Amino acid sequence: MSALLILHPGRERSLFKRHPWLFDTAVARLDGHARPGDTVTIQAADGRPLAKAAYSPHSKIRARVWSFDLATTIDHAFFKRRVAAAVARRAHLPELAGQQGLRLIHAESDGLPGIIADQYGDTVVVQLTSAGAEKWRAAIVDALQKATGCARIYERSDSEVRGLEGLEPVTGWLRDTPLSPGGGGAGGEGEPLIIAEHGVLYAVDIVSGHKTGFYLDQRDNRRMLAALSPGKRVLNCFCYTGGFSLQALAGGAASVLSIDSSQPALQQAAANLALNPQLPADHAEWRCANVFDELRKLKAANETFDLIVLDPPKFAPSASHAERASRAYKDINLLGCKLLSPGGLLMTYSCSGGVGLDLFQKIVAAAACDAGRTARIVKRLQGSADHPVDLAFPEGEYLKGLLLQVD
Ligand code: SAH
Repeated sequence: MSALLILHPGRERSLFKRHPWLFDTAVARLDGHARPGDTVTIQAADGRPLAKAAYSPHSKIRARVWSFDLATTIDHAFFKRRVAAAVARRAHLPELAGQQGLRLIHAESDGLPGIIADQYGDTVVVQLTSAGAEKWRAAIVDALQKATGCARIYERSDSEVRGLEGLEPVTGWLRDTPLSPGGGGAGGEGEPLIIAEHGVLYAVDIVSGHKTGFYLDQRDNRRMLAALSPGKRVLNCFCYTGGFSLQALAGGAASVLSIDSSQPALQQAAANLALNPQLPADHAEWRCANVFDELRKLKAANETFDLIVLDPPKFAPSASHAERASRAYKDINLLGCKLLSPGGLLMTYSCSGGVGLDLFQKIVAAAACDAGRTARIVKRLQGSADHPVDLAFPEGEYLKGLLLQVD
């Protein structure tokens, strides 16, 4: 019999809406004993049992729901089923045909809170960010290996959010093949891990790259960029390892200027370009600079572009940062609009959880207005198809974007 997490009166509402997070403020008491990650039964103040969840005593998110079905046992078989279902959910997505990099598990939105898994070729990278995920590491890894047939599984549990759960960072090989005995190997120093995305090769650094090594959430949008690029003078801001830049070149851009403040990222971007001799390297320029300063310099030099990508890092991890983040989004979008030739396209994103779609659209509208330009939405943009959003968990919709035509 699992311990009971008893709620304050009225605090069961979010669970009725099947939201998987239970905040500490909703909890009246714990009946029984539970260690971090243990399964508890959440119970309303009137005694109704509501869900089975992972207990996390150090986090403000005191419990994350594994199942709203109280008959479900949370055991190895549970993870086998959920992981297999997540992998199967992606099997027939047309967007994934021929892609070697894909997200297999998108945490809460796949019914697996705190669990991320990305596949790069024959390697799976797993990231565990909650006490519950930590407890079930072995079951999750077994299930991933069975569902994918991948022999190589690397752990990148070094996300900052682990600290909020009282967990230390953990990285390293969980499963390895004789190819790289004793760890190290693919994606780190030594043999690089290379994936094809829309026919373009990218090296993925699973050991020290951002996230699990690559921004898979932008895969579908990078394909769209390629389709929009023929003959265009493209500016790609916050280019990281050249994800959008290489797709623009593959799509036939006349020129691609890419900016990032990280020299190692730019080196990797140039190396990625070199992996693709079919792309016209002489159409690409990499510039190490702060985007905020560089856009001003480009404006002062009267430069213009036909297509601009703005894909900045998370300016607002939570709502408390929204105001400062809004100013930053406004600034780059204002400069972006000013640098566009008449009728040019702006592909602009926010991956900030603390800035919702409505607010982001208002910020960009204000930027276009201040630039003295008329901007029309051609398309709303979101994360790739393998990053589903559970409607009961709007927090899963962190990536939003707009494709605008700017007159
Ligand atoms: N579009 C990329 C991902 C962008 S990640 C892709 O599809 O792969 C954000 C990038 O912004 C990082 O590479 C980081 O180095 C860079 N960055 C952060 N702040 C910056 C700034 N002020 N100026 C330039 N680059 C910045």
